[in-house]
Amino acid sequence: MRITAVKSHVLQYDLDEELGYSQQYYARRSAHLVEVSTDEGITGWGECFGPGNVALANKAIVERVIAPLIDGADPFDRERLWHRVYNLLRDHGQKGMPIQALSGVDIALWDIVGQATGQPLYKLVGGRCRDRIPVYGYGMMLRREGDLPRRFAEEAAAIEAQGFGAVKMKVGLGPRDDIRLVEAVRGALTDSTRLMVDANHCYTTSDALEVGRALDRLGVYWFEEPVAPEDRAGYRYLRNRLDVNIAGGEAEFTRWGWRDLLQAGCVDIAQPEVCGLGGITEYLKVLALAHTHFVPVTNHVWGSAIAVAVNLHLLTAMPDLPGGLHPWSPMLEFDTNPSRFQDELPTEPLRILDQVKANGGTVAAPERPGIGVEPDRDFIAKYSVN
Ligand code: CA
Repeated sequence: MRITAVKSHVLQYDLDEELGYSQQYYARRSAHLVEVSTDEGITGWGECFGPGNVALANKAIVERVIAPLIDGADPFDRERLWHRVYNLLRDHGQKGMPIQALSGVDIALWDIVGQATGQPLYKLVGGRCRDRIPVYGYGMMLRREGDLPRRFAEEAAAIEAQGFGAVKMKVGLGPRDDIRLVEAVRGALTDSTRLMVDANHCYTTSDALEVGRALDRLGVYWFEEPVAPEDRAGYRYLRNRLDVNIAGGEAEFTRWGWRDLLQAGCVDIAQPEVCGLGGITEYLKVLALAHTHFVPVTNHVWGSAIAVAVNLHLLTAMPDLPGGLHPWSPMLEFDTNPSRFQDELPTEPLRILDQVKANGGTVAAPERPGIGVEPDRDFIAKYSVN
């Protein structure tokens, strides 16, 4: 089999309401899909992490830099092609956008292999290690105005009522207001529901310590990206002083970036982003590295139904660490804000919310070959900004 074309589709639409995290407010939802065609009629789909103009720049990397390097190659040769691209791009970016672009292409190759062999992706990456995956609902994004503690409390209760056993909220207003937000959300949830707090690296180390002590008091399950991803000493400092699990890694790339983060003892829970760190080929190495350090992994997920489905497969095939009758389980990250890229993009929707409601807050990977998401061509044409 030969690769005949590599194409990027950047999709965008305007949100009904602006949403925010600690770094910015945004009014547009976007997704970056990669389509790889072959001479045998099989088309693979992948996705690159990165919104808006970042996606448009990544599209140029996919189509102008990576596509010529793999044109005519056998899509089964994932390692060979990954290293051909990485080695030639090493001088131009070992992290960031070139690796995000490579990620989407690599994922599409795995989709092709799955379709060609008739196997769902989870079979290709090691087989079923668990039947169902608990899902956490993230919401509670920042807004510019209004009574945010009340709004967050109501939203948390609404997410819980949808059947989620774990929820995640944003912070980023500053330590005092953030602690009030977390108190409001914790108070609105039943005791058994897990709460995670995501700072998107907005704090200084000392502010993060102040917030982290409140999270300890409130029984929060993890404190995500408390400080800048480059601040390995800050991560270590917090991890040594706080009880709450320190989570992070969505902004780290390749096995070499992850080697440094893990060796430095930065996180209790690793959150690799498969659509950013180098694709499935590289994710498997990062997973092995994390488990080598006995650091549990629960994937970072952002984007369309393609990214969600890829992660469903990877979480299904993730071995237990360290194992047992009631082992620690990873969770699927799921954005509870309405998204057409979840509901309307696939010809057969994943129905995550229906599954969560019907199955005690858990979901299962699709059984179709490959990733198992066939995007609707009309939908792509309608939302494409290419
Ligand atoms: Ca995050």
